[in-house]
Amino acid sequence: MNQITLLAELQDLDTRSDKNADLRDTLETKLADVAAMDDARTAYEQDARGKAELESKLRALELETGSLSDKLKQVSDRLYSGRITNAKELADLNRDEQMLRRRQGELEDQTLTLMEQLEAAERGVSEKQSTHAKIAAETKARHAQERRRLDQLTADDADIELKRQALRAQLSIEVLRTYDYLRETKKGRAVVRVHAASCIACGTAVPSGLISRLKLGNELVFCTNCERILAP
Ligand SMILES: [Zn+2]
Repeated sequence: MNQITLLAELQDLDTRSDKNADLRDTLETKLADVAAMDDARTAYEQDARGKAELESKLRALELETGSLSDKLKQVSDRLYSGRITNAKELADLNRDEQMLRRRQGELEDQTLTLMEQLEAAERGVSEKQSTHAKIAAETKARHAQERRRLDQLTADDADIELKRQALRAQLSIEVLRTYDYLRETKKGRAVVRVHAASCIACGTAVPSGLISRLKLGNELVFCTNCERILAP
């Protein structure tokens, strides 16, 4: 195999390796991106806190209702016991009873409203919980796929590296120096093919004299414009 054929193969391997590196970056960015899952969990936790607050309000209301019922029973018992004959005391008890009943009515209304709110909150929490579970499962599946793809890339990179070393071992230090320099300075493309007598990287026509020299394969031939190594 002449040097130019080896170089073209080396370029193909290096290009594949560059693509793998780009793909690896993309995959690693995707792997690090758990925003959708985090957002869903935050929304669920927020609703769960709201629901817990409603529950504790309801418990407080139930306690208040309970103690009010006790008080009302005491007042009613006294009022209708027949033992109170003092008119002022009766009037006071009557007023207390009415006040307590009004309060009881208010508490019942508040309890109903709160229970409705709690039902809505429970529905919300359960919806957000299943949304989070769904997104978490999707994210997990996506991550598993991305990790598999990363493993494939690692295996491919190892394969590339072996072949690269084998190719480089067959090339002279001078040729490698030129190739590496062009890889660095020409956006990774040191070797380009000639198609229809033109350099495929920059489109410049390759003079026929150069094409003949290229076909002989005894030396490196460069594009007169972009200065890359030409391959037949
Ligand atoms: Zn060119």
